[in-house]
Amino acid sequence: MGVSIVEVSPRDGLQNEAAIVPAADKLALIGALAASGVRRIEAVSFVNPKRVPQMADAEEVSAGLPRGHVSWIGLVLNERGLDRAIAAGMDEVNVVVVATDTFSRRNQAVDTDAAIGAWSRIAGRARESGLRTTVTIGAAFGCPFEGEVPLDRVRSVVARCADAGPDELALADTIGVGVPAQVRALAEVAAAKAPGVPLRWHFHNTRNSGYANALVAAELAGEDPVALDSSAGGIGGCPFAPNATGNIATEDLLYLLHRSGFPTGMDVDALLPLGERLGALLGHQVPGQLARAGVFP
Ligand code: ZN
Repeated sequence: MGVSIVEVSPRDGLQNEAAIVPAADKLALIGALAASGVRRIEAVSFVNPKRVPQMADAEEVSAGLPRGHVSWIGLVLNERGLDRAIAAGMDEVNVVVVATDTFSRRNQAVDTDAAIGAWSRIAGRARESGLRTTVTIGAAFGCPFEGEVPLDRVRSVVARCADAGPDELALADTIGVGVPAQVRALAEVAAAKAPGVPLRWHFHNTRNSGYANALVAAELAGEDPVALDSSAGGIGGCPFAPNATGNIATEDLLYLLHRSGFPTGMDVDALLPLGERLGALLGHQVPGQLARAGVFP
């Protein structure tokens, strides 16, 4: 119950970085993340390595994951990806359905209808294989190519995705344009069209609204479980969305949540050294601010 974190830096974080991080360095980072008490980590994506070379070592990384305390998530876009996720021993798959046709074609070379069809087939097969499923509605807050995404459009995509019985519904602000009023509106859409399905939110801090969105999502959940995606150091983005910048930073989010009365079971102090380490690995300073400012009190 309550608020939980899904750490996405090894996947959403690293896939947008120019540097290709070796599998051994990814595994060292993942081990440090796991030590923070986080229960779910999106570690890899099983996508075409020609399109996302940063994730070409998904199998190698999967083979080295410390199993036991963490539920390991792989992002997949099609059945080929699902086959790889099953073979790699993932605990969960996260399947992306982009809400607009233009972005969907750029991201995964099919329109939204075809992506919903793929999700439905993946959901059934993943369930048979004992994997938990999340369907993520990408660009739910806005599209880099089509602009505003009408709420009715998201409503219909959510309703059709819910038909396949996801274990979790994620609403993603893929390009970081969202504001709290949209979080409230989308939470209502989810409650109406996917009743009873646990919610997960994916925020980027591109326009400094990511943390406000996350806090509102936590408050709206009340007694219901809610998951928030974040990445250590605030690294991340999307290679197919112009100017997409980092996810909200896990350590900054934990500071905000813990002092606002939302315990997560995670240890913020364990994450603080990671910002500098990530900066060294990636060759630039990371956006997260808590590691520089320090915890208070
Ligand atoms: Zn993202």
